[in-house]
Amino acid sequence: MSALTLSGTELAARLRADVTSRVAALCEAGRHTRVAIVTATADPSSAWYVQSIVKACSRVDIDCDVADLGPDATAAQIGSALRRLSADRGVQGIILQTPLPAGIDVTQAASDIDVSKDIDGANPLSLGRLMAGLPTFAPATAEAVMRLLDHYRVALTGQQAVIVGRSLVVGKPLAQLLLQRDATVTVAHSRTADLPSVTSRADVLIAAAGRTGLIGAGHVRPGASVVDVGTSVTKDGSLAGDVAPDVAEVAGALSPVPGGVGPVTTAVLLRHAVDAAESMAPRKGTLP
Ligand code: NAP
Repeated sequence: MSALTLSGTELAARLRADVTSRVAALCEAGRHTRVAIVTATADPSSAWYVQSIVKACSRVDIDCDVADLGPDATAAQIGSALRRLSADRGVQGIILQTPLPAGIDVTQAASDIDVSKDIDGANPLSLGRLMAGLPTFAPATAEAVMRLLDHYRVALTGQQAVIVGRSLVVGKPLAQLLLQRDATVTVAHSRTADLPSVTSRADVLIAAAGRTGLIGAGHVRPGASVVDVGTSVTKDGSLAGDVAPDVAEVAGALSPVPGGVGPVTTAVLLRHAVDAAESMAPRKGTLP
C-alpha cells in the first residue's frame, strides 16, 4: 500500500488566486495591501523563510517591507518597531519573525502587534481569542494544517487526532482548531512516555516536532492520515520532515516535505493580509 499524497501545491495556488483578485479589487479602489516583517536574527533558515514570504507577496501584488533589526536588537527596539508599524495606517499585516535574540520572549514581544494586523496570530490576545472560539487570525501554520485536511476531506468529527509538538505557533493552536471540529485531541511532546503507543491511536496524526524522521512506520496506525509539519534543513541543504519514508507504506494519506503544509502556510499568511486590508478599507461613501 502506498499513501495518498496530501500535496499542498494545488490548494496554495487556489488560495493565491483568490488573494490576487481581492488585492486587485482593493487596488482599483485605491487601497494598497502592505505587510511588514520584523526580523532580528542572523539565522540563515530564517532569512530564507523571510525571502520566501517577500517573493510570495510580490506574486500577488502585496507590498512587503522587511525591518531587519539585526541579531543584537533589544526587546525595547523590537517593541518600538512593532508599535510603530501597528500605528502605521499604510501597513495592514505584521509578522514577527523568529527566532528572536536570546532572552527575548516571543509571546511577550508579540503583544506589541495590533491584533487587527496580527496576521500570524502571534499576539497572546489573538491566541486567547482563538481558544475562546472568537474571530481572530490563527497562526498560519496551524490554519494551513486544517485547510489541507479539509481540502482532502479528511474526517475529523469523533476522530482521534494526535499532535506531536506543543508550541504556540503549531501544536497548541492546532489542538484548539481540531477541538472546534469535534476531534478528540491528544498533544504529545518531548516528555511524553512511550510516544509510539500514543501516536498509534491516531486516526489523524500531525507531526510538528522539528526532529527529522521522528515518526516511523511503527508510530502510525494503518490507514491513518499523517500531516508532516516538520521542516529541518539537512546537511546537504534540503528540507526534511519529521516523518520517515517508511510511513508511506502504512499511512492512508501523507503530506510531503517540501510541498505539503509549507506552501499552504504562506498562502494562508497572504490571505490573512488581504482579510486585514479589507477590514481596514473605508466603507463606501466615507472619505479615505
Ligand atoms: P518548537 O517550538 O521547537 O516546538 C517543537 C515541539 O516538539 C515542542 O513542543 C517539543 O516538546 C516537541 N518535541 C521535540 N522533540 C520531540 C520528541 N523527540 N518527541 C516528542 N515531541 C518532541 O518548534 P515549532 O516552531 O513548533 O516547529 C515545529 C516544526 O515545524 C519545525 O520543524 C519547524 O521548522 C516546522 N514549521 C513548519 C512550518 C511550515 O509552514 N511548514 C511553519 C512553522 C514551523 P517540548 O515542548 O517538550 O520541548
